[in-house]
Amino acid sequence: MLDAPKNRPTLPPEIARRRTFAIISHPDAGKTTLTEKFLLFGGAIQMAGQVRAKGEARRTRSDFMQMEKDRGISVSASAMSFDYGKYRFNLVDTPGHSDFSEDTYRTLTAVDAAIMVIDGAKGVESQTQKLFEVCRLRDLPILTFCNKMDREARDTFEIIDEIQEMLAIHVTPASWPIGMGRDFLGCYDMINERLELMDRADRNRVAESIRIEGLDDPKLAEHVPDDLREKLIEEVAMARELLPPLDPQQVLEGHMTPIWFGSAINSFGVKELMEGIGAYAPEPQVQPAEPRQIAPEESRVAGFVFKVQANMDPKHRDRVAFVRLASGHFQRGMKLTHVRSGKPITVSSPVLFLAADRELAEEAWAGDIIGIPNHGQLRIGDTLTEGEVLRVTGIPSFAPELLKVCRAGDPMKAKHLDKALMQFAEEGAAKVFKPMMGSGFIVGVVGALQFEVLASRIELEYGLPVRFEPSQFTSARWVHGDKAAVEAFTQKNKQHMATDNDGDVVYMTRLQWDIDRVARDHPELSLSATKEMQ
Ligand code: GDP
Repeated sequence: MLDAPKNRPTLPPEIARRRTFAIISHPDAGKTTLTEKFLLFGGAIQMAGQVRAKGEARRTRSDFMQMEKDRGISVSASAMSFDYGKYRFNLVDTPGHSDFSEDTYRTLTAVDAAIMVIDGAKGVESQTQKLFEVCRLRDLPILTFCNKMDREARDTFEIIDEIQEMLAIHVTPASWPIGMGRDFLGCYDMINERLELMDRADRNRVAESIRIEGLDDPKLAEHVPDDLREKLIEEVAMARELLPPLDPQQVLEGHMTPIWFGSAINSFGVKELMEGIGAYAPEPQVQPAEPRQIAPEESRVAGFVFKVQANMDPKHRDRVAFVRLASGHFQRGMKLTHVRSGKPITVSSPVLFLAADRELAEEAWAGDIIGIPNHGQLRIGDTLTEGEVLRVTGIPSFAPELLKVCRAGDPMKAKHLDKALMQFAEEGAAKVFKPMMGSGFIVGVVGALQFEVLASRIELEYGLPVRFEPSQFTSARWVHGDKAAVEAFTQKNKQHMATDNDGDVVYMTRLQWDIDRVARDHPELSLSATKEMQ
């Protein structure tokens, strides 16, 4: 197998063996099944079916989780660690539903690569495309797994062409399928010149590899019937002529994706994909930050919060901040500086996510994801260091596309609403705006489903029924500029002004025309649809 090129100084071995990635896919393509097989081969679970079974046991705990189940979506993301060969994989789960794109975007800031799973019969679907675009913004390396080859799938060249055309990325076959649907035999591993045959009898067994000396090896005929063999030889010759050869550097730069074909449910192709992640997905990467970037090999620990999840355990009002370590060797009990507040925090009970269980993390390295339980001090975008004032950049917050007024169903409990909404704002689940004029809160989300999620969580976690009513506004823009200019503008436009949950000034309107007018009449200000979390 080719070694990935080194474009950076050699990393300490513990860091160099880490691969931190997410899976992107359209719902139903097989992300859960593939995750389960990863964990199975990574030794993190004993039996396929556990991920789902555990998920369901957890879900029955509350109505909110029930809603997740009914709609077949996963609202909460988590991170899972497991070993495979010499590698330590950190798989960060992305929420599957398009309504949670902002969360997904931030999750993708915490990984070094993405695995794109597509259904062999359906090709590139809408959600795959959207998520791919997000990866592209960061030039994330992408490895592709074409799943469900045990069913009638599309022609192999057609699938590859579709990816190349729709996603504008070079595709190079790492394996080539032999037959499809009921005749699917397995794959020819184009990197290692191996024959991989699928075992239909045992879904959890890893296929045996048969080493062959190229496609004219007589051993091929022992395993592959004549018609499929001829087709395979012809197609591989054509693929080698028409498609670009695997170039690890191009993969690292996000310009080329190697594609493996397989069937997650039959455990087929998964092992090759895992080897591929080890070989072609990058080591922990340099993290953009101010005033300087953070390199993974630095001896001091630095990390950033990319997700906050509240009430993971409904009995405790705790939150878990998911921190991606950007550098160093973390040890339990370490005292880190919370850069935003300048305060020290002692990380005494960090959590590592091994499969579906939480475990205390005694140590972790750059590239790992740890969970830090806290009472709300840690927010998305926060940086933790061993004292240096660094601020990780590139974790955005988007202007919500949907705004509604939130009212307490029970006026006696209205004061809890403030607290509940602030909590969800800190989690990044919603934006909360306090208008200058009038009472109440305006809540902004990126996807409509989030209103329902919020309403059921507020009721469940705070015992407070709420209503979301239409708002007179449809757009919110952060106002940037000189302090005096922002203040003068605010005073003149009180009806439109609000502050967000961080106290930043926001202009709200229902007309794009208004936004254009402000831009024209107030060159000293800028209105923006994103702000960096800090
Ligand atoms: P997700 O929505 O992307 O997480 O997809 P799931 O992993 O839940 O899979 C969706 C459906 O496809 C389930 O019914 C799986 O059993 C099925 N499935 C997953 N992988 C395969 C496969 O390789 N072959 C076939 N035939 N079905 C599969």
